Amino acid sequence: MNNRIKLSTVTTYKFGGYCDNFYELNTQDDLNRIESLTNFKKIFILGKGSNIAFSDKGYEGTVIRPNLNDIQYDSEIDEIKVESGYYLPNLARFYKKYSLENAEFLIGIPGSVGGAVKMNAGAYENEFSDIIKSVETYNLETCKFERFTKGELEFSYRNSENLKNKIVISVNLKATPGDPKKINKNLKSYIGYRKKTQPAGIYNAGSVFKNGINYSAGELIDKAGLKGYSVDGVKVSEKHANFFIAPKGSKAKSLYNLVSYVKEKVDAKYGISLEKEILFVGNFE
Ligand SMILES: Cc1cc2nc3c(=O)[nH]c(=O)nc-3n(C[C@H](O)[C@H](O)[C@H](O)COP(=O)(O)OP(=O)(O)OC[C@H]3O[C@@H](n4cnc5c(N)ncnc54)[C@H](O)[C@@H]3O)c2cc1C
Repeated sequence: MNNRIKLSTVTTYKFGGYCDNFYELNTQDDLNRIESLTNFKKIFILGKGSNIAFSDKGYEGTVIRPNLNDIQYDSEIDEIKVESGYYLPNLARFYKKYSLENAEFLIGIPGSVGGAVKMNAGAYENEFSDIIKSVETYNLETCKFERFTKGELEFSYRNSENLKNKIVISVNLKATPGDPKKINKNLKSYIGYRKKTQPAGIYNAGSVFKNGINYSAGELIDKAGLKGYSVDGVKVSEKHANFFIAPKGSKAKSLYNLVSYVKEKVDAKYGISLEKEILFVGNFE
């Protein structure tokens, strides 16, 4: 259960030095064994690593990755209970299999259910919180399970509250029967749209900056003439200016510098201070 691991192997950006305390939760029973972990001060909970860049210097604290993948559909109460390690595109496919609607937008988001709760992942005017009923967590401070209603997590654009030092264990989701044709059509159009507008492949973490109420971060970056701009190989995508691509072997620090540069330029040109959506974890100084 305890491993030294190179963090570049567990994120989509493929950045990160070593972590000496990497724990994978393969069953909920493993939680009993991590009680002792609560002595460790710095704990980072990792999903699929699709929204983060770990420092090249590694992570000094403990990383816990829930690898819990159970899913159950109860048609009597129109509810799905899914564990936090479940892969979002597979959740979209599970909904499709039972002709359930409103999860099609998850098809192109390569994260986990736990990460989608924390980030309130969304696309095409849908957010994960739209289908959440309640969330079960494990509190690392009290070593107790807790259940939160959707309201208690105060979801907003790419954000949730009250999850500090808590591992999302499972989520109860609305499972609304829908029209299979419409579900299929949505899935196809979302897949097609991503292919057309976003860079192919991995080595990125989706949108770098959050959009504002009145602006698209990608448009501002584009208009500032920064498409294709690069720092030590890490580059603003030519296809979508809010995606920054890191070729194999590049450094998280280069991404960090590129993000700072783009933020400065956009601020200078438009007086808008872009807010990061991706998370830098560890020491970047
Ligand atoms: C190609 C690509 C496209 C993307 N498109 C979108 C998009 O359209 N919309 C969108 O919203 N995002 C998008 N993303 C970003 C990312 O996939 C989402 O933010 C996703 O929800 C992150 O999930 P994760 O499991 O990878 O979380 P991670 O990146 O591992 O972690 C993200 C945050 O969630 C926390 N976390 C993860 N698991 C748990 C858990 N079990 N309990 C408590 N906290 C946890 C972490 O501590 C961290 O704070 C994209 C990323 C890529 C690479």
